[in-house]
Amino acid sequence: MVHINNRFLDLPGSYLFSEVARRVSHYVSQHEGERVIRLGIGDVTQPLTPAVIEALHKAVDEMGCADTFRGYGPEQGYEFLREAIVENDYRRRGIEIAPDEVFVSDGAKSDTGNIGDILGLDNRVAVTDPVYPVYVDSNVMAGRAGTYLGDGRWSNIIYLPCTAENDFVPALPAERPDVIYLCYPNNPTGTVLTREQLKMWVDYALCNDTLILFDSAYEAFIRQDDIPHSIYEIEGARQVAIEFRSFSKTAGFTGLRCGYTVVPHEVCARDEKGAKVPLGSLWNRRQCTKFNGAPYIVQRAAQAVFSEQGAKETRSLTDYYMRNAALIRTKLQTAGLQVYGGENAPYIWVKAPGEISSWCFFDRLLSECNIVGTPGSGFGAAGEGYLRLTAFGSYEDTLEAVERIENWKL
Ligand SMILES: *Cc1c(COP(=O)(O)O)cnc(C)c1O
Repeated sequence: MVHINNRFLDLPGSYLFSEVARRVSHYVSQHEGERVIRLGIGDVTQPLTPAVIEALHKAVDEMGCADTFRGYGPEQGYEFLREAIVENDYRRRGIEIAPDEVFVSDGAKSDTGNIGDILGLDNRVAVTDPVYPVYVDSNVMAGRAGTYLGDGRWSNIIYLPCTAENDFVPALPAERPDVIYLCYPNNPTGTVLTREQLKMWVDYALCNDTLILFDSAYEAFIRQDDIPHSIYEIEGARQVAIEFRSFSKTAGFTGLRCGYTVVPHEVCARDEKGAKVPLGSLWNRRQCTKFNGAPYIVQRAAQAVFSEQGAKETRSLTDYYMRNAALIRTKLQTAGLQVYGGENAPYIWVKAPGEISSWCFFDRLLSECNIVGTPGSGFGAAGEGYLRLTAFGSYEDTLEAVERIENWKL
């Protein structure tokens, strides 16, 4: 008989979203005619913008004509898109990234999940807690996580709690990790790191020979000037950091699929003999072997995000969600709730009132306000006692949701 990768059995089932769905559908079946507003899932609701649609149509037509048809493209992405990324996402912010340091893909989930392919299994991994589950689960599958301890924790992973007590800024670890995942602006807490706070991590990585895997999928939602959009805004980061970006939340590409990973030439790790090996060449080899490039039409659509018109439209798209975020933030505060995030990110992290648990708060919000959130404990032990609301709903739904909460007897 064929053997499975046993580590898949070690993974607890994807309990969070299935349990949310189960409770919501049970509630809905018992309360016909009541309108439930879903501010739980992290998917966007607004359509692709006209500039993106126009580029898609044009690219589709090219695919139907022998002269302009494109088959397999470069695994790393088309030059036109890599150049546009380098120019718009980096050079305009004073950061020099070479086009061959950019690897276009079908999204940041794939890349953050796959990056472990090029790293040894004996590396010690650190994550913030709460955390985007992909970082942990992909390391479980690879065999780096150790044994499951319950409560979302693994014996070999270093957890850095982020709570109101430390302003959601992870403290430097007591034990040295080889690899640390940082996601800022953060999912699920919606909080950010200032330049100084991020510099602390880059300096730590430089001193301790630690690799930072920096997920900046939400950089387009930053509204304050002093918050870094890229880790490469910090001096020395080119030596220690790989950055992941996505068009999903920025431009509504969750269904279209496009993201990219930046691996600067300087980022290295050691082989068994202690010799330095550039990680960019390994990632290139990995992608060329297991990935055949993002679709041509999708890369044209992504390029359109950077056109003058596309950039304007994309900005109003993120403004739309940030208006929701501000509304949720202020109205919940007025209602007497403790809220975090939502100023530079499309997530609002709400403290459950009166020391009740995340799931208890979830149930009350569902049954008393007909609003669906996501229990914070599902993102890690340190998320207990919090609940995540997203700003990705429509304005009308968000407005109605916050009015219900305002009138709620907590
Ligand atoms: C949504 C999200 C992404 C983007 O994933 P895609 O695969 O590009 O859609 C990446 N990281 C985090 C933390 C996210 O929440």
